[in-house]
Amino acid sequence: MKTFDAIIIGKGPAGISAALYTARANLSTLVIGKNESSLNKAPSIENYYGLSEPLSGEKLLAVGMEQVKALGVTVADEEVLSITKLFEENLFGVTSKENTYQAKTVLIATGKPQKKIKLEGLERLEGRGISYCTTCDGFFFRKAKVGVLGYNEYALHEAEELLTFTEDITIFTGGKEMEASEEETGKFKIIKEPIEALSGTERLEGIKLKNGETIPLQGLFVAYGTASSVDFAQKLGVLVEDGSIKVNADMATNIDGLFAAGDCTGGFKQVSVAVGQGAVAGKSMIDYAKKRG
Ligand SMILES: Cc1cc2nc3c(=O)[nH]c(=O)nc-3n(C[C@H](O)[C@H](O)[C@H](O)COP(=O)(O)OP(=O)(O)OC[C@H]3O[C@@H](n4cnc5c(N)ncnc54)[C@H](O)[C@@H]3O)c2cc1C
Repeated sequence: MKTFDAIIIGKGPAGISAALYTARANLSTLVIGKNESSLNKAPSIENYYGLSEPLSGEKLLAVGMEQVKALGVTVADEEVLSITKLFEENLFGVTSKENTYQAKTVLIATGKPQKKIKLEGLERLEGRGISYCTTCDGFFFRKAKVGVLGYNEYALHEAEELLTFTEDITIFTGGKEMEASEEETGKFKIIKEPIEALSGTERLEGIKLKNGETIPLQGLFVAYGTASSVDFAQKLGVLVEDGSIKVNADMATNIDGLFAAGDCTGGFKQVSVAVGQGAVAGKSMIDYAKKRG
């Protein structure tokens, strides 16, 4: 297992800005992220300090990446599936499909959380059979018939975590192809049929498929798309307000050693704000790592 002083999740302006500070302060730093920054979608940036002419978001990201690589930062093009607190070692564990890493301090800079799937009954049954956190709620579904809603590595990771509690697990892809090999999904039933609605009034009772069939279920764990800041927060017990991670002026969350910066903290979603918050978070991570030793 590779251990770093600092792990930064997200390769957008907030994450890269934080890494510039941690690396220059000699913290061994890993930046881990997929190539899906909001900035990739911005054709022309004109309102960022120091630009003599408009620059595409893609170019601005590429320049930032060159800057951190020149400082010796390790960069991994991986999707993070979970963050855990390893209390005994007083470290954080960060798991992707390919690797598990450890660090003294972690920054969540994963941008604006993606919109989750909309399904009739989903919000109504939250906490009544619908969960977003296998670590928190898996225990309540021992030997139960449960589903995982999702279609990729994140869903597979959550299904595997549920195996501790039950073997009766179905992955519902909601009409998408499963992005994993049959070898990887072998322990689970896979249903690719599109979903009409979730059924149940007081508690979840089942999933109604578009083909008219209803599959009875006691629990459904939502792991749709890429794991977002809110998914990580829920599992770690990080405070979230209106879908954004709550931080103080030092960009610290309520978990010691865990920081957040950029669009995932809400507010004014701009490159300049993300870069500024990244700088503050980087400084706070340095102070934390030095104090911790
Ligand atoms: C179309 C458009 C135009 C815009 N125009 C402007 C503009 O003109 N000026 C301006 O200032 N701002 C603009 N913005 C806003 C700006 O792009 C964002 O405020 C800024 O990119 C936020 O930076 P961030 O680092 O917080 O998040 P992001 O840039 O979104 O980066 C998030 C990073 O986290 C990674 N990530 C997410 N989940 C995971 C996971 N599970 N595992 C691993 N990695 C993960 C992503 O892949 C990405 O690398 C625009 C945005 C859009 C969409």
